[in-house]
Amino acid sequence: MADEECDYLFKTVLIGDSAVGKSNLLSRFAKDEFYLDTKPTIGVEFAYRNTKLGDKIIKAQIWDTAGQERFRAITNSYYRGALGAMLVYDITRNETFEHVRKWLQELREFGDPDMVVVLVGNKSDLVDLREVEVEDGQKLAEVEKLCFLETSAKENVNVEDAFLQMITKIYKIAS
Ligand code: GDP
Ligand code: MG
Repeated sequence: MADEECDYLFKTVLIGDSAVGKSNLLSRFAKDEFYLDTKPTIGVEFAYRNTKLGDKIIKAQIWDTAGQERFRAITNSYYRGALGAMLVYDITRNETFEHVRKWLQELREFGDPDMVVVLVGNKSDLVDLREVEVEDGQKLAEVEKLCFLETSAKENVNVEDAFLQMITKIYKIAS
């Protein structure tokens, strides 16, 4: 797929429980902004960012769930055509980590089997509130064959890396 300003256009999606920081990861990556309070948005939103890989310009279109994750209402149209997914949990809330398997199931049900999935443990800045150990994330990622990183959207740690890993991996498959 090509348009005027880019060589490739990749659709990717953000998934994971409510309030794990999906929208802030996206605003950090797309606009370098962080919000202490995020208003739940209505309907699906997405943002774009261009990245240069070698001599190619990749445009990533990143979809954000806008709060329907609570109702398990994300379905076909959200996943349709997505080449990558960033599956986010909150390291300070164990239940969001336990739900990762549920999200993987949903990906298998609705997503493309070749989708690149990056597992992200967000809010790594909240060290005193940590409930999920780094090793737990690593182990799960190994078993499920996913890339894995811990991030902080707040302090801008590894956010760029997480998106770039996803985009680079998609590029390797697509090119
Ligand atoms: P979403 O529901 O998954 O989109 O989560 P939001 O992006 O709306 O974030 C939920 C709450 O967590 C907001 O109050 C954010 O300010 C906060 N938050 C998001 N990312 C981080 C982070 O990396 N560190 C900390 N300390 N708070 C974060
Ligand atoms: Mg959100």
